[in-house]
Amino acid sequence: MDGIKKDYVFHRDLKKKYPIITHGEGSYLFDESGKKYLDACSGAVAANLGHGITSIGEAMAEQAKKAAFVHTMRFETKALHLLAETIGKMAPDHLNKVYFTTGGSEANESALKLARQYHRDAGRHQKHIVIGRWQSYHGNTIGSLSAGGDVKRRHAYTPNLLNYAHVYSPYCHRCPYDRQKDDCLSKQNWTCVTDIERSILELGPENVSAFIAEPIVGSQQGAVPPPLGYFKKVRELCDRYQILLIIDEVMTGFGRTGTNFATEQIGIVPDIITFGKGVSAGYAPLAGMIVHDQVIEGIIENSDGKFIHGYTYSGHPVAVAAGLAALDVYKQDSVLENVKKQGLYLFNRLLELKQKHAFISDVRGRGLLMGIELVKDREQDLLFDPAEKAAERLNGIAMELGAVFYPGSGSIDGTKGEHLIISPPLN
Ligand code: PLP
Repeated sequence: MDGIKKDYVFHRDLKKKYPIITHGEGSYLFDESGKKYLDACSGAVAANLGHGITSIGEAMAEQAKKAAFVHTMRFETKALHLLAETIGKMAPDHLNKVYFTTGGSEANESALKLARQYHRDAGRHQKHIVIGRWQSYHGNTIGSLSAGGDVKRRHAYTPNLLNYAHVYSPYCHRCPYDRQKDDCLSKQNWTCVTDIERSILELGPENVSAFIAEPIVGSQQGAVPPPLGYFKKVRELCDRYQILLIIDEVMTGFGRTGTNFATEQIGIVPDIITFGKGVSAGYAPLAGMIVHDQVIEGIIENSDGKFIHGYTYSGHPVAVAAGLAALDVYKQDSVLENVKKQGLYLFNRLLELKQKHAFISDVRGRGLLMGIELVKDREQDLLFDPAEKAAERLNGIAMELGAVFYPGSGSIDGTKGEHLIISPPLN
């Protein structure tokens, strides 16, 4: 008990001891005993340029020396405009307005609220329900948690979550709808899509404001891309029922999957893209959303032009300066080309590992967002009991050996195995 009293940090796990990191260099972190760790998951898929980049630190210091903080209700900074312009130009056509927050949860919370206001201002007062997906993650604030499908975290807040609906995200390797992959894909009646329409009709289209999804499912499935054409079908449904499509690129944005945004690979234009993590390469808490012109025009035409929302630290000058400097390094380091090259290398090496080990049942991902599914035995398709925490334990062994990955647990209903994400810095 004495030890607990002397330690003032409210740790993520109050029963655990964490190594204290003194510094990082490139893809490595060093703890106070001098132990070196390969940061093979970029922290939380955030430190996308690795550690110790002085130009980013210097840009932040320069901005802090000029003006530490200005409130965006009264003032703006040059850095804010420059970063918004840079991101707007990187985004798909028609997505031009950039709104800043400090984290991905806030970004998604903002997107959900914007969708609600957009419909309400246009007289569609009833549209308030969001459809999200099981086995997806959008954050830990109540709105983003309600939209997401992280069963464990949701369970802790039941019944206080918002009344949002959920369908399953596609996972052809272990279909939650129990379909056979080849049969399903060839027949063009994909249950993961028809279930979205069922949900819309059941809720009443007049009640549904938005559909939210990760383009490649990160922490909840372990880097699982959708089958080709899935999002085109989702876009059609959203258009048919006047539902905004929010694509959560908090984990996938800024080159992680080999293009600026993974949205480019799924071949659609969303109404809102949310981003976070990689935008500042983890050097500052920075995130936000990029909004389609039509949504912005709707708000301007139908209201006094105000988005009824806002945070003290939206567009924080030092965070924004970190973002600008980070995006500069992405360009200088030709990150997109590197991700394509190293992603292919990593994928092939993981396939080799799969051939060697019966506990790897699937290798998937895009660019440098790769995942492996972990099972007890591949041939018998024997899953770990989630209580065994196999992925967490494997990562513990890796940390002992000096490498850090991003583990995720399986599901009791067997629709999802344990997984590890491998997502090293992009440069
Ligand atoms: N959305 C996705 C896809 C994420 O992976 C995460 C975090 O892991 C979030 C949202 C939440 O972001 P944050 O932890 O910055 O609030």
